Amino acid sequence: MTPSLEQIASCITGYDPNALPVAQAQEFIARLVPRVRTVEKLPIRAALGRVLAADVVSPIDVPTHDNSAMDGYALRGMDLAAEGPTALPVAGVGLAGQQFAGLVPPGHAVRIMTGAVMPAGLDTVVPQEFTTLDADGVVQVPAGVVRTGDNRRLRGEDLARGEPALVAGRTLRPADLGLLASLGQAEVAVFRRLRVAFFSTGDELRSIGEPLDEGCVYDSNRYTLHGMLQRLGVDLLDLGVVRDDPAALEAAFTEAAASADAVITSGGVSVGEADHTKQIMARLGEVLFWKIAMRPGRPMAIGRLGPPGREAMLFGLPGNPVAVMVTFYAFVRDALLAMSGATPEPVPVLRAVSEAGLRKKPGRTEYQRGIVSQAADGRWMVRITGAQGSGILRSMSEANGMVVLHHGQGHVAAGDLVDVIPFHGLV
Ligand code: AMP
Ligand code: MG
Repeated sequence: MTPSLEQIASCITGYDPNALPVAQAQEFIARLVPRVRTVEKLPIRAALGRVLAADVVSPIDVPTHDNSAMDGYALRGMDLAAEGPTALPVAGVGLAGQQFAGLVPPGHAVRIMTGAVMPAGLDTVVPQEFTTLDADGVVQVPAGVVRTGDNRRLRGEDLARGEPALVAGRTLRPADLGLLASLGQAEVAVFRRLRVAFFSTGDELRSIGEPLDEGCVYDSNRYTLHGMLQRLGVDLLDLGVVRDDPAALEAAFTEAAASADAVITSGGVSVGEADHTKQIMARLGEVLFWKIAMRPGRPMAIGRLGPPGREAMLFGLPGNPVAVMVTFYAFVRDALLAMSGATPEPVPVLRAVSEAGLRKKPGRTEYQRGIVSQAADGRWMVRITGAQGSGILRSMSEANGMVVLHHGQGHVAAGDLVDVIPFHGLV
């Protein structure tokens, strides 16, 4: 049974919808969101960025044989002289894909290439650059350049047969595609993609291509949302701009909820506008209106829309362009990843020196937009991108990270360390 919103709220200590700390809002949402169940099989190349639906157990040892990690000579460690150099006649050659098949007599070596199967009985490889080969085919190994077992890759050292190579919930990365290929696996089971519908609300919004009437602004939120959602790898359904008109809004919410797993809106949840949104929501589902102790992004609506059993999650974000992005990263991103079946991976946080003092009231989380750079001594430094108004989208565009000033934190002095979530990631 899915718990009701009141049941979830009762699990959150000191729940107050009118002054909700960010951490509590995140906990609430984590308890609220359902996970996709539908699984599909994909060719491994098509599975990049998708969420693994079942553990992948290795059907083979990788590598399947002990093999050489270097070009050089394979030998028995016990044949190495206790002191001084060792001289070993060369009994043959082993190449990658063309192994030395014979028996190696005691006291002999085999010329071997990287990746070639270790000849039976030999356990050590001396790299070629340490050796000299006499005209009569005897290799000279100086003292102290190898110990028994060196430069040999063991059977199964990468992946052992029967062990989970990848665990369900993992978002597949380039290395994982290669790993699946190394198991000889052509296909992989992943969860279906989430489908996310979104629209902007506001009579003052104009779409690109329309004339910008007096007092109007172009709708930018649908574009930032499009970008953020695309990066998460969900299927998108852009429902355009919807006017602040109860019938139009109700129709848009109904269509969105019927066609998607999650609905994201911007605007219409601030104090001045929430009233008519509330009336519509009361008819369409179960929705809470929160005031979150954060800046930017105080107002937000959260809940479920649509008939029981076929509900879509609703994330009603504030309208201000920076607030949309900050609330998306603070709440929606993790929620959509969880809904996709992914096991959350913590986002790396940098500790950086604040170049200037920052004013901050305890009792709310602030997300300031910053530019992180590395000083000559290697320390990370951060400076704020000018005016931080929640309507100033340039502050977000210029930034390469968000400075997170935590709930209990007060003013920051120049030179203090602060937490920064960088926007960049390697993989
Ligand atoms: P609201 O939350 O609807 O009261 O909107 C707050 C502020 O954000 C107002 O200045 C709106 O004009 C602006 N805003 C709302 N939606 C958008 C949008 N889609 N694109 C750009 N600005 C917006
Ligand atoms: Mg509005």
